[in-house]
Amino acid sequence: MANLDDLYREIILDHYRTPRNRGELPSPPAIRTEGYNPLCGDELVVYLDIRDGVLVDIKLTGHGCSISQASSSMMSAAVKGKSIDDVRAVIERFKQLMTVHAASLDDGADAPVADIHTMGELAALQGVVKFPVRIKCATLSWNTLSQGLDEGYGVQGTGSK
Ligand code: ZN
Repeated sequence: MANLDDLYREIILDHYRTPRNRGELPSPPAIRTEGYNPLCGDELVVYLDIRDGVLVDIKLTGHGCSISQASSSMMSAAVKGKSIDDVRAVIERFKQLMTVHAASLDDGADAPVADIHTMGELAALQGVVKFPVRIKCATLSWNTLSQGLDEGYGVQGTGSK
C-alpha cells in the first residue's frame, strides 16, 4: 500500500501547487464567510453562489499551511455544482473521516480506511488524522463552508448539523 500513500501525497501536493477555484465572487449576492484557525494561523474566505438550492459556484481566498490550502482546494472541487443537500452530505462524510478515524487511532486499533472510490480525492486527507494538530487545518475550509450554508441558506430541511 506504499503506492497509495504516494498517490495521496501527490493529490495533496497537486492541490497545494495548483489550487482550484481561487478568487472572489461579488458579495452580495454571493455569501461571504471567513474562517480562521488560530492553532496554525490559517486564514480563509469562502464565497458561495447558491441558486435554486444548488451551489453554482465557489471561490476561495486566504493563506495558510499546505494542508489547509490543499484541503480547501479539494473541498471546493468536491462540492462545486452540487445541490445543497449533497454538499451537506459531503461535509458530513468528510467530518466523519476526520473524527472516526482519529478515535480509532486513539484505541490503537487499525482505523477504518476511507476508500478512494467512495471518497474520491478526499480520501487522500485521511493521513492528516495521524497528526491531531493538523486536523483543524484540514477541517477549517469545511467548517467555513458549513457556516456559510447556515448563514446564507438557512438550516431548514437539512436534518443534522
Ligand atoms: Zn494549518
